[in-house]
Amino acid sequence: MNRLILKPGREKSLKRKHPWIFSGGIARIEGDPQAGEAVAVCAADGTALAVAAYSPQSQIRARVWDWCVHDIDAAFIAQRITRAAASRATLPAGVTDGLRLVHGESDGLPGIVADRYHDTVVVQLLSTGAERWRDAVADALAGLSGVVRVIERSDADVRMLEGLQARSGLLRGKAASNPLIVTEHGLRFSVDAEQGHKTGFYLDQRDNRLALRNLARGKTVLDCFCYTGGFALNALAGGATAVTAIDSSGPALQTANANAVLNQLNGAEWLEADVFKTLRAFRDADRHFDLIVLDPPKFAPTAAHAEKASRAYKDINLLAFRILNPGGVLMTYSCSGGVSPDLFQKIVAGAALDAGVDARIEGWLHGAADHPVALNFPEGEYLKGLLLRIST
Ligand code: SAH
Repeated sequence: MNRLILKPGREKSLKRKHPWIFSGGIARIEGDPQAGEAVAVCAADGTALAVAAYSPQSQIRARVWDWCVHDIDAAFIAQRITRAAASRATLPAGVTDGLRLVHGESDGLPGIVADRYHDTVVVQLLSTGAERWRDAVADALAGLSGVVRVIERSDADVRMLEGLQARSGLLRGKAASNPLIVTEHGLRFSVDAEQGHKTGFYLDQRDNRLALRNLARGKTVLDCFCYTGGFALNALAGGATAVTAIDSSGPALQTANANAVLNQLNGAEWLEADVFKTLRAFRDADRHFDLIVLDPPKFAPTAAHAEKASRAYKDINLLAFRILNPGGVLMTYSCSGGVSPDLFQKIVAGAALDAGVDARIEGWLHGAADHPVALNFPEGEYLKGLLLRIST
């Protein structure tokens, strides 16, 4: 096997089992590994530390498959996928038929994400290592009990950093004749696996959507960045008196409307608009709400974007505080890998200060249990949220 030799001292993060090897830490490559090929990762003194997938174009030059050196083959990939899927079996039955089966590095499968919607698995291959084992991944997912098709959605921007083209389509099984529907905490959602965001649905917010449902009775609710209506419909299901939902995506709102019909939850006001502008308009019109959700897209994909992202987070949180009724609740999220929970809390605190409100944290919110975070890989904790109540 070809070898990747680290600079002296650069083995430290690997010894803590962090699975990324950055280009700056590499002394030399021995041999001529192809994109995605397995390389033995060695300390400067030659000690073998791990086996990793080589990615010649990315700043993350290699991603660890395992902590001892051995060949990577289809059986290894299949075993990891089976293990990841089996670990989800501990989730309470009946909660949902939409689950993340594979969550990348946190499941020992760098660059591989797989979401299951009822009988369909939607997979994203986001690194050269994942790409190399595309057939093995597809076969293993197709072989899981109850799965009838596997759809590929390898069209995320991060593929470009790996030198890979976007690719999507049916990978295994026959195309579905009916729209894909998941049932989550008793609500039904239509999932557009071909055109929707990511793999079609934001499964990570499952528990938080239920948390909102439990807070909504008798309240006026504003769902900002509503996508296909996940939070808004839960608010209606929970007995909200009025729900307004905003998203800039027309197709997402079409699905949101279809989801409202599917659940016979009518009465939400769906606005196709920019959240930044609409919050300002509501502030100027003195339009207030009891409960506001802010679930924006990833403003900072990496730490390099953190400053610009911080301004955007502060802006929307400040505006939300201004249009919250006294005693009202703000549920605010960041799914930016480049913004730590600590930084996020600071940004939101700054927004409350500038808005002149006194806010307390009633809870920290996270991704659901099928999006685990490996302790050695804190980057896996991309989704963090705060449940805040302002004074009366
Ligand atoms: N809360 C949703 C997921 C939100 S994803 C759920 O539970 O399913 C983020 C959403 O923000 C996307 O639907 C995207 O279309 C929308 N979006 C991005 N920028 C926006 C903007 N400036 N104004 C309004 N919506 C925006």
